[in-house]
Amino acid sequence: MKKLTFLILLILLAPHSKATNETKPIYKDSKAPVEARVKDLLSRMTLAEKILQLNQYVSGRNTNANNTGPVVTTIPSGIGSILYQSTDPVWRNQFQKRAMEESRLGIPVIFGFDVIHGFRTVYPISLAQACSWNPDLVTQAAAIAAKEARLSGVDWTFSPMIDVARDPRWGRVSEGYGEDPYTNAIFGVATVKGYQGKNLSDPYSVAACLKHFVGYGESEGGRDYHYSDISMQSLWETYLVPYEACVKAGAATLMSAFNDISGIPASANSYILNDILKGRWKHDGFVVSDWGAIDQLIDQGFAANRKDAGLKSFMAGVEMDMKDNIYFEFLPQLIAEKKVPMAKIDDAVSRILRVKFRLGLFDHPYTPIVDETSRYLQTESKATAQKLAAESMVLLKNKDNMLPINSSVKQIALIGPMVKEKANLLGSWAAFGQETDVSSIYEGLVSEYKNGVTFNYAKGCDFDGNDETGFNEALAAAQKSDIIVVCLGEKRGWTGENASRSTIALPAIQEKLVQALKGTGKQIVLLLSNGRPLELVRLEPLANAILEIWQPGVEGGSAISGILSGRINPSGKLAITFPLTTGQIPIYYDMRQSARPKSGKYQDISTEPLYWFGHGLSYTTFSYDKVKLSALKIKKTDKLTVEVEVSNTGKVKGAETVLWYINDPVCSITRPMKELKYFEKKEIAQGEKATYKFTIDPMRDLSYTDANGKKFLEAGDYYIIVNDQRVKFEVVN
Ligand code: BGC
Repeated sequence: MKKLTFLILLILLAPHSKATNETKPIYKDSKAPVEARVKDLLSRMTLAEKILQLNQYVSGRNTNANNTGPVVTTIPSGIGSILYQSTDPVWRNQFQKRAMEESRLGIPVIFGFDVIHGFRTVYPISLAQACSWNPDLVTQAAAIAAKEARLSGVDWTFSPMIDVARDPRWGRVSEGYGEDPYTNAIFGVATVKGYQGKNLSDPYSVAACLKHFVGYGESEGGRDYHYSDISMQSLWETYLVPYEACVKAGAATLMSAFNDISGIPASANSYILNDILKGRWKHDGFVVSDWGAIDQLIDQGFAANRKDAGLKSFMAGVEMDMKDNIYFEFLPQLIAEKKVPMAKIDDAVSRILRVKFRLGLFDHPYTPIVDETSRYLQTESKATAQKLAAESMVLLKNKDNMLPINSSVKQIALIGPMVKEKANLLGSWAAFGQETDVSSIYEGLVSEYKNGVTFNYAKGCDFDGNDETGFNEALAAAQKSDIIVVCLGEKRGWTGENASRSTIALPAIQEKLVQALKGTGKQIVLLLSNGRPLELVRLEPLANAILEIWQPGVEGGSAISGILSGRINPSGKLAITFPLTTGQIPIYYDMRQSARPKSGKYQDISTEPLYWFGHGLSYTTFSYDKVKLSALKIKKTDKLTVEVEVSNTGKVKGAETVLWYINDPVCSITRPMKELKYFEKKEIAQGEKATYKFTIDPMRDLSYTDANGKKFLEAGDYYIIVNDQRVKFEVVN
């Protein structure tokens, strides 16, 4: 954002007179309890001041291609929030100064921005992060992102996205943590912890915003913004699960989703927002609408006009209007007409003020000025980026231990449109990530191997289109090499918002390139950089090894080269299933059993996906001992400990994630064939073993949730499932 535009933005609406010289009001007393401060401040506010708090303006024009709107040139000093798109604390402080000194009561603005997988130090996309099964590392990365963001003027990030996503045609599958509710819950909580730190008022914490509440991942046909038909049963047992966990973990705010949930749009859904979030879960922060979500109630056929949309959204429990200006424009009338009670306004304003107090904005409204070189891309931030990138990569196939690359290999053909890419490795929603910060696959490999190996590079083809003229050069490079590394994938804009695809296969030209290379008879390693699961049915047989590198962020190149050379042993496992073909969608591991398990198959293809959730290989081998249970029969109030010893039986050290599933074979409500309940990742040296332990709390881990969100635990048989073992135990009353 240019300085000039900022100056234009600084033009005021007429400022109110300043607070008078009474003794220091409670709300200004940093030692007073937050609730007392909220109450005191609220009691001093005029209706106009309250309504301003309920609005978020955009500074200038949003940079997100999907979020266009008029350029905002005038922002009232008493505005509640700004969607901020700068890294310049000076501009931010100037604006904040207006709010603190020129608005009558000196209420700070909360500056929000989409910090999704890093701010300037860009980490792998969230879907990849989940494949690391390392929530502590994810917390670390989120904490670094928070610090970079806060030092750049951001107080509040619109993240994490915890929408369970089972349709990889939907572009936003890249932004969440995959297909499983529990995985989304764990990584959502890990991310919230990283952003919010021990205390929201810590100088480097930012407020988290859980999005998109709720059911956005269920958009019909994988088309963005579409209707989502969600039964109450799946709402409770699947889509709400991560939200409840993150609310319990203290997430400060939520964003209401675009989608229409079975007839009531999420941004006007009182059951979801008032009853569940505020009533049952007792969330006391606030909800912001997604970009344009209030206005869009008109398109969705739920509101007659902007005023009606504002009424419905506000009364349903959306406290802050992101950019639509509807609350600003219509709340005064709606209050005068007694359609909106003052108590509801006061509650909404209190929620926003509460978050501002908790963030320490009243006591420390300004961002310290720290030079960009000391803010971004610090050595430890890059080390975390490299570790997370490496741990999130998934070795999908490794026939005859093709990888790591054998030391006898002296010439490697590096082929494909992804080899020298930088921007595309950043993924969508890369905040202030810059192409120049990224190490490409090519750079990573050249620096990994120094002088020992010659790389014969050819692009071969583009990401899409029909131009095969580069094939010959690629074939020549392959001919003179010992092995071929083909780097394919998706451009970053092929996933993310408004980026759905009708097929999850790569464009035909990329597949053709590999088919041509196969003709050389050389062994092929396939590197895939993408933001969604891909249809690999035609590519898989052509490759000896396949490494899913996702969109790995700034340190992608060094992580990839470390895995190819064997310096790093891959340990990622899929947090989302790779269907065999697009036609299998939806396919996810926690499906329910069919009425005829042996039939109901497709006539043309297998009903098995190519790679299930949880799939991922290592350079070493792990052998699982027999699972031990502390008892075979427990009472509902008992705990049950299950243990398994895992030995590293290979030649190198490696990390193994044990995924613990349960199954309830007979229940009053049918249950999925398996449900992930716990996981743990440990590094095990070659020849060593480690014990993995899971303590089952029956009410937490074995119960089911009904269509009203009530939990029940039934007596009967259950199974614990780990690796290929399935062991029965019984729960009695
Ligand atoms: C997206 C949100 C995002 C918001 C603000 C919307 O289009 O759906 O995820 O936080 O824009 O940029």
